[in-house]
Amino acid sequence: MPSPHRITLIEGDGIGPEIAKAAVDVIAAAGVFVTWDRAPVGQAALKQLGELLPKETLRSIRRNKVALKGPITTPVGEGYPSINVALRQQLDLYACVRPVTSLPSVRSRFQNIDLVIIRENTEDLYAGKEHEIVPGVIESLKIITKRASTRIARYTFEYATKHRRKKVTAIHKANIMKLSDGLFLRCCRSVAKRYPRIEYGEMIVDNTCLQLVMDPNQFDLFVTPNLYGDIISDLAAGLVGGIGLVPGANIGRKYAVFEPVHGSWPSAAGKGLANPTAMILSSVLMLRHMGEERAAQRIERAVSEVLAEGKTLTSDLGGTASTDEFSLAVVQRLQR
Ligand code: NAD
Repeated sequence: MPSPHRITLIEGDGIGPEIAKAAVDVIAAAGVFVTWDRAPVGQAALKQLGELLPKETLRSIRRNKVALKGPITTPVGEGYPSINVALRQQLDLYACVRPVTSLPSVRSRFQNIDLVIIRENTEDLYAGKEHEIVPGVIESLKIITKRASTRIARYTFEYATKHRRKKVTAIHKANIMKLSDGLFLRCCRSVAKRYPRIEYGEMIVDNTCLQLVMDPNQFDLFVTPNLYGDIISDLAAGLVGGIGLVPGANIGRKYAVFEPVHGSWPSAAGKGLANPTAMILSSVLMLRHMGEERAAQRIERAVSEVLAEGKTLTSDLGGTASTDEFSLAVVQRLQR
């Protein structure tokens, strides 16, 4: 019998527990034997253990090296700093990888989209360094370093090489933020020179948004500072049918945490409204990372078939199925 994988499972807040259950059921149906270390973060952790990012959760990820994570609620404009940002910084999960791909039979404005957003995950305005200088004046620091920019550029070009991608586009606003985004671009250019077979281009972030909604198929791979990457990820998700469909990975040198692009959609918690596809496809990325390629392919195929059949779709895709019904349909495909 193959030795089981031990993986940290962070269910998350809001719709998190429902979509986490879906992914766990699907992985089991694909025949991958996993021992799940359930570890809370966010509201659940605050309730159970009195802290938002418990040390034991971090220990569990460090021990297992891999985690599957649902979304976490972070109150807007008040309260505690983002737990996601803290988690990514503490584990040095410097590369956020988000493949955005058209799925069969999902109605959307464009077909055959196949692009990947690689976002620097540890600094930029997300360093969370804000303070009030005097009442009514806030300063928020945008941190861009040569080390982190070079590291994400290298990761992107290595990813392009491994995945046979042809073109990298660096996103920036260096026309305005000449020093910070200027440094990011210089690092990307310098790394790009070492990969002459991969086409390299640059695009200002506002034009990138325009180009994405006009002609997304012109793009292949993006490398971007943190904030722009966050924003264009949601935009790109809209191009392929919605945020419930796009998976993600946070990769570091030692650890990896897999999670969907979307948030915790608090108002839908417990209602069975969430599409679990993004979470299930995040677990596909995780299985690939762990060397479980066959199971990853089987799950991907099963999800595609359920979507293509069109009988069991969640409401974001025009259907009436619940989160559980969709994942059950995927499970049944895997068991055939
Ligand atoms: P959200 O992604 O939670 O929801 C925005 C909209 O997207 C929803 O109204 C819904 O229409 C749709 N949606 C989201 N997930 C879906 C799914 N699985 N299936 C179908 N439709 C789905 O974004 P928000 O409202 O901006 O944020 C809510 C909370 O989530 C905030 O506290 C935010 O900080 C947090 N958040 C967490 C993460 C994370 O943990 N990685 C990421 C983004 C936002």
